[in-house]
Amino acid sequence: MADLTLRAFQNTKVHAVRAGHARLNELFTTYYHAAREVVAENLWPTRCAACGTLGDLLCKTCSSQLDFIDLWRACPICGAPYGMHQCCECNSYSLKGIERSTVPFDACVSAVRFNRVAAQIVRTRKDGGERRLVTLMAYHIACSIPPEWIKPESVVCFIPGSSRAIQKRGFDHAQELANEVARLLGIPVLNILAIQKARDQRGLGRHLRAQNVKGRFSVCRENMPAYIILVDDVYTTGSTVMAASDALKDAGAPRVYAATFARV
Ligand SMILES: [Zn+2]
Ligand SMILES: [Zn+2]
Repeated sequence: MADLTLRAFQNTKVHAVRAGHARLNELFTTYYHAAREVVAENLWPTRCAACGTLGDLLCKTCSSQLDFIDLWRACPICGAPYGMHQCCECNSYSLKGIERSTVPFDACVSAVRFNRVAAQIVRTRKDGGERRLVTLMAYHIACSIPPEWIKPESVVCFIPGSSRAIQKRGFDHAQELANEVARLLGIPVLNILAIQKARDQRGLGRHLRAQNVKGRFSVCRENMPAYIILVDDVYTTGSTVMAASDALKDAGAPRVYAATFARV
C-alpha cells in the first residue's frame, strides 16, 4: 500500500514536471516566433504587394482598387462578370474554341477581376515569396463561395503545383491557399489530384492552354466526396480548372465547384 502511494506520488510529480516543461517550451516557442518577426520586420519591412509602400501587405489605396466581381451579375455557371442573363464565355459557340460543348464543373466563382492590383498580389505571393498574402486571398475566396456549396460532406481540393515549381518557390502555392480556404470554411482539405508533366501555362493562348492541360490530371482516391470545391488562384481561360474538373468527374465526383481569387 505504501509502495502504491509512493508510486502515485512519484507519477504525479513526473506529470507536474513534464507539464512544466511543456509550458516552458510553449512560452519559448511563442517568444521565439515573436522575436523572429520583430527581426524580420526590421530587416525586411512589410511593403504593399501592389505598390511597394511601407506599412501594410496591401495599402488602403491599392485595396480600394480591387475590382470585386458582383456575384448577382456574374454567370451562375462559369462566374464570368456580367454573365447573369447571357454569358459570352460558357456558351457552346465560345467553348468550341477549346473543343468543348459545356463546362465540366457545376459552377465557378471568382472574387476579383484580374486587374493590376490582383495581378501584383498573385505575383508577389508566388514569385516574390510573400506567403502572408495567402490570408487575404483565401479570405476573399471564402467570402465569394455561395453558402449552398458548404455541406457536411464538402471538401476543398486544389490543383497541385508541379514538382519543379514547388522546388523553385519552396512551397506549393495552391495547397497553401486551399488549406487556408478550408480553415476559414471549417471543412477539410483533400489532396487527391495528381499532376503529370506539362508546359508552363503562362504565355500560351486559349487553345494551346486547353491542349497543354488536357488529360494532365489524375485522381488518387476511390471514394469521391459528394461536394468538392476546387480552389485556385487565377482563372485565366479556365482550361486548368476544367481539366482538373474533368479528372474529378471521371473519377465519380457528383458535384465539382470551382473558386478562384481572380479572373482574367
Ligand atoms: Zn499599395
Ligand atoms: Zn458563363
